[in-house]
Amino acid sequence: MASDCIFCKIRDGEIPADALRRDERCFVIRDINPRAPVHLLVIPNSHITSLPGLTPDEREAVGAMFSTAGEMAAIEGVDGSGYRLVVNQGRDADQSVSHLHLHLLGGKPLGGMCS
Ligand code: 5GP
Ligand code: ZN
Repeated sequence: MASDCIFCKIRDGEIPADALRRDERCFVIRDINPRAPVHLLVIPNSHITSLPGLTPDEREAVGAMFSTAGEMAAIEGVDGSGYRLVVNQGRDADQSVSHLHLHLLGGKPLGGMCS
């Protein structure tokens, strides 16, 4: 938990956001600044800041994020057309919230791998 973390505050209800799904490992919200018709954020409940050194519980949370993303893609109707899962890590990736999260993007052609 980081007291200044937007996603921890959303998790705790201190910042409003409609969770599309929430379980003991992660929760899902719509990105406030969507870059595609479907743009969800899959966020672990625990304040994970980087992938190296994950605890066993955090590893389970990361696995759960991917299966949740797949389920949400189906619910959002983009499992057939396709979608992209993105993790931004650090300055060169323009990461703006340092609490691990998966972007789920879809609903339009997304271009080449890094566009
Ligand atoms: P990053 O740039 O760290 O990979 O992604 C952070 C994402 O969080 C951005 O796409 C940004 O639009 C989104 N975001 C930031 N603050 C909020 C918020 O208060 N509510 C929601 N729903 N999304 C947010
Ligand atoms: Zn956090």
